[in-house]
Amino acid sequence: MADWKPGDPMRISLDVVKDAKVVKCNCGGAFFTEKLMFKKLSALISPTGKEELYPMQVMVCDSCGKVPRDMNPYDMVDEEYLAKKKISK
Ligand SMILES: [Zn+2]
Repeated sequence: MADWKPGDPMRISLDVVKDAKVVKCNCGGAFFTEKLMFKKLSALISPTGKEELYPMQVMVCDSCGKVPRDMNPYDMVDEEYLAKKKISK
């Protein structure tokens, strides 16, 4: 497991998965939908030298409609689209 990188297929037994913790959104929601966000790359930074749209796949919480903080590994998602920080139950 130590040398697993995101994108590699996970080879672990189902028993291990069964005992693992369910990932929850900061709002407590546990179901997510895959969505696309786009960032606009200006001609100055775009590899093609033209303005381009860069698609980003994000997981959106079905309960609050925001991206859970645990699912923003590269800090690509702007603060305004992230789920609100933990609210005490
Ligand atoms: Zn949520």
